[in-house]
Amino acid sequence: MTLNFRISIQFYPIFLGIILTATTGSFAQHKANSNGNSLKQSIALIDSAFQHNNAEDFNKLVPIKGVQDFYASVVEEKIKKLSGKSKIILVSKDSALVFLSGILLYGNSGDETNYAANYTGIYKFERVAGSWSLKSRIEIDRLNQIKKHRLGINIIPGKSITVKDTLTIDINDSYGFATRLNHTAKLKKLTLNGAETEFSFDAGLLLLKARRKNGQTLTLEYSINVEREETDKNSAYFGDAYGHLRNQYVWHPFFSFSSPNDRADFSLYCTIPKAYYLATSLPQKEMVIGGSRIVEAKSLNPTFGLSIYYDKDWEVNTFRKDHIDLVVYATKDFLPEKRALYAEFSKSYDTLQKHFGKPIGNYLGIVQDRSNTDGWKNRSNSIVVAGVKGSTLITDKPNPRATFGHEVAHGWTNPTGPATNFLTEGWATYAESILLASVYGDSITTTFFKSQKQNYFNGKFDGKSSLWEDYSNNGVSYAKGAWLFYILSHQLGKKHLSTAMTNFIQSGDQSIKSFTSHLSAVAQSDMKPFLNSWLKSKEIPVLEILQSGNSIEILQAGDLFLFPLEFKIRLKDGTYLTKTINMQTKEQTLTISEGVIESFIVDPGSKLLFTMK
Ligand SMILES: [Zn+2]
Repeated sequence: MTLNFRISIQFYPIFLGIILTATTGSFAQHKANSNGNSLKQSIALIDSAFQHNNAEDFNKLVPIKGVQDFYASVVEEKIKKLSGKSKIILVSKDSALVFLSGILLYGNSGDETNYAANYTGIYKFERVAGSWSLKSRIEIDRLNQIKKHRLGINIIPGKSITVKDTLTIDINDSYGFATRLNHTAKLKKLTLNGAETEFSFDAGLLLLKARRKNGQTLTLEYSINVEREETDKNSAYFGDAYGHLRNQYVWHPFFSFSSPNDRADFSLYCTIPKAYYLATSLPQKEMVIGGSRIVEAKSLNPTFGLSIYYDKDWEVNTFRKDHIDLVVYATKDFLPEKRALYAEFSKSYDTLQKHFGKPIGNYLGIVQDRSNTDGWKNRSNSIVVAGVKGSTLITDKPNPRATFGHEVAHGWTNPTGPATNFLTEGWATYAESILLASVYGDSITTTFFKSQKQNYFNGKFDGKSSLWEDYSNNGVSYAKGAWLFYILSHQLGKKHLSTAMTNFIQSGDQSIKSFTSHLSAVAQSDMKPFLNSWLKSKEIPVLEILQSGNSIEILQAGDLFLFPLEFKIRLKDGTYLTKTINMQTKEQTLTISEGVIESFIVDPGSKLLFTMK
């Protein structure tokens, strides 16, 4: 156990007894016969193997590939590791749930918390022939949900953060409730529905015993001394002049980067000394009272995590376009100049509005992070984070990108549920193609989508990730997502896609179901089979094309996709034909009656994302 927790125990002796008894448990009931391991022995063996550097021993005890890979990499990287405080959660006859924890110590505590999450968690043990052993891992979020956070935060620049988080949670798992939280957090108080409750907190996992019930209120009060390590500033850095906490620092509770069950509504009340400016990653309002700057913020769409940035030397400038605030949090010398940012914002806004109507968002923050190198660094909720300086806003080479316009386009969608990142990143990347064409002309569109196809393969998403399940935003939704919009623009016509998109945006329901029904309405046919083939497959179409006489046979060698496929055919008499076949099955034939085929080109306009077998 870490020192931090001992301190919290001293403050709140009421928990001491619970924690100690919970650790040792009532092992008498789980004794093995004389030949096998008792549950306690089995756990002790795993704890010991975790601390040593012997993969063979560890793998025998923990037969889970992902955890074994993690252990091997920790050993290889020579990271200091300590087994934490394991705990038996519950036992029923020949099976048990056990909290196993391992602490890693190598750098930033947020990174340590995330890395340790590969091991620290809840495991199922079973007793076979009198001997207990580990069988499988239980995902902490499988039956529980985090629905709301109400956060009160006080920031002491250069030092620490204190947090009171009131969460609304649904608990439906027999083990209770567990969430990740930065492993150096000093918990001062924890209540469930207003009452103190049994919990343990170790290696970045907070576990509490709880009844199954929806709409419970979990309140946590804690503080974190934030690092100010000059060589490791990515996840968090609290300098005297500027600093930040990124969501990956796990400075407030959440399940993981890829859970569908912790997308929650946030409201925030922050205080910081008034000499500092503060940018949450959400639309915000601020005021100064006495010596404090107070910032209040609210999430626009459900999210798992927030980021926070502060800086003493920023100037905060607000530009208004219709109902949208563009707020730039940056020092005077920031580049691109704030007025150039606004001009680009305004231009992108006008182009997108012409096609898709008014956006639903009302805020875009541009935040300078002076601890970072130049460039656009990341997006977090409603802000775009730059380094000391930003970078190119739009470019046609080497690969066309409307980097800044992409961020502006995010103001048009606000989805939840499956395929969220298709409707977020796929949409914004598709919007880039429209913005690029408005600046460089239509011919740039095919170049843009060729480079997106390359991105899809470079990202190694093929066979691994679908748009439907990309909760973690692993990258697949950008290229393949943009391509799906592009294919839809050919299937429906650009104008119809614009109409469907405009209706979807204004509908107030940005689920994939709503998207599908708005597309179906303009197409006057059910678009679900078409969309699902692209959203649910982890592949793209793999085609095999065979000619025999005047027939061209098209075979789909992988998953079945629905799409239109164009052919340019040269006939023996020297004339050309363009034919489109709507693929709906794995084998279809295009037969030509206009003459004799001499040669043909598949997809001459590069309108489809596919590979040849
Ligand atoms: Zn984006």
